[in-house]
Amino acid sequence: MTEIRSTVILGSGCAGLTAAIYSARAGLNPLVLEGHEPGGQLSITTLVENFPGWPDGIQGPELIDNMKRQAVRFGATLELAHLNKIDLSGNPFRLETSTGEILTRTLIVASGASARWLGLESEQALIGHGVSSCATCDGFFFKGREIAVVGGGDSAMEEALFLTRFATKVTLLHRRASFRASKIMLERVMAHPKIVLRANTVIEEVLGVEEKEVKGVRLRDVTTGEVTTLAIDGLFLGIGHEPNAKMFGGQIDLDDDGYIRTTGNVLTTRNGVVVPGVFACGDVQDRRYRQAITAAGSGCMAALEAEKFLEEQGH
Ligand code: NAP
Repeated sequence: MTEIRSTVILGSGCAGLTAAIYSARAGLNPLVLEGHEPGGQLSITTLVENFPGWPDGIQGPELIDNMKRQAVRFGATLELAHLNKIDLSGNPFRLETSTGEILTRTLIVASGASARWLGLESEQALIGHGVSSCATCDGFFFKGREIAVVGGGDSAMEEALFLTRFATKVTLLHRRASFRASKIMLERVMAHPKIVLRANTVIEEVLGVEEKEVKGVRLRDVTTGEVTTLAIDGLFLGIGHEPNAKMFGGQIDLDDDGYIRTTGNVLTTRNGVVVPGVFACGDVQDRRYRQAITAAGSGCMAALEAEKFLEEQGH
């Protein structure tokens, strides 16, 4: 007989680990499946300066490591495993993972969202060394510098506008002539004295791999084929995020872009009706704030809801 666990948490970023700390302290012995990107997005960030309680900032991986140790100290178990299949049709829920089958009475989905990247080798090599997917996190480091933002949607516009607070010049690079961004955002960008728009432009390579810091980008104009180099100190990706929720499609409600729909902050639904015992927190259900502290806050809420649910069920 497979043991029935009280709480399983999917994901080991800020949301999942906060849920783990709370549910472990409540005596639920949670199991955290660390997933494909252990530690989540913070584990690929450098200095985090806006997490309350760290007046001098803290490195993202260190913050995550602290949270892990805190969760383990209260009895959470972390497993380097990921989910292959899930059945939420009856309680206990049935999970097939890379290491075996698990039954659980409550499930906290904290599987996050992954930033989309261009997929260039040079880009991947320079993440955290001038290449970033988070303007709010890293913009501050580019005071007085020249940078570029990639993308043609609202995220890219928002990043470009935000980054003008720090950078002396922001070049917005977009692969097509027309933009997905809303008219108002595009107009603001076009009117901004610090922003230069370059449409029909793709990045062929991020320069600076040997120096371990972004020095520029090699660009190609897709209409003329002309190749040029743009000197920059930072490159921000604004080409969207993918919520890691595909696996739940059909079992809990997702919105049009694949984010988990929640009601009452962290309760999930199926055809609009709450699914008892299944909670979602962090970026997998938040397309708006996407901050470490908001993810942690919703992780706390999910753990408290799980505890309340188990108590109501008499466990
Ligand atoms: P999005 O609307 O899907 O736009 C993504 C952009 O990135 C598109 O311009 C796309 O180019 C480009 N792109 C994607 N893959 C690329 C690649 N491999 N290489 C180069 N360019 C690539 O995503 P989003 O901007 O994150 O917005 C998502 C949703 O959130 C939207 O509904 C948006 O309105 C909303 N949002 C709203 C606000 C706001 O109102 N303040 C802020 C942020 C986001 P193509 O156009 O050529 O496909």
